[in-house]
Amino acid sequence: MKIIKLIKDLILEGKLSDYGSNNTPAALKKEKELGNKKIDPMSSIDDLDINTLGRNVTVKEYRYGPLNPKDEKGSKEFWEDKAEMWDTTVEHAKTSRCSNCSAFNQKPATLKKIAKAIGKEGDKIVKQSNIGFCEFFWFKCAGSRTCDAWVGGGPLK
Ligand code: SF4
Repeated sequence: MKIIKLIKDLILEGKLSDYGSNNTPAALKKEKELGNKKIDPMSSIDDLDINTLGRNVTVKEYRYGPLNPKDEKGSKEFWEDKAEMWDTTVEHAKTSRCSNCSAFNQKPATLKKIAKAIGKEGDKIVKQSNIGFCEFFWFKCAGSRTCDAWVGGGPLK
């Protein structure tokens, strides 16, 4: 659990506003509102602004992505950067995704909560995007994406 706390401390140090104003307005507004207030990690499940804030900080600080994993051409550079960072091939880098990360929480109760918060199409959206809850960065992430903090052995079921 020490490593999880360490990573959480790191992410909480980073601010979205450090990266300028060209970002999701609702996330920047939420960051301002929250200030140094501690929040329940799972609050992002019900609050889209908190979720987007967590996700966007992870994009900036841990290179979460790619934007559209199905777009091979568009995500080429993303995977090349990951391969270079991990000292491996692009094909090998692509085997490390949220879907097999240990921080990817896909416990039935978590998925149920996410689907309920989304609403009528919740179950369908959770299934087709293979959604889970990131225990490191506290947001809902898609199974086919990844980030620099990926840890093998997942998902949490
Ligand atoms: S689940 Fe793992 S790979 Fe996905 S964003 Fe979280 S830490 Fe990164």
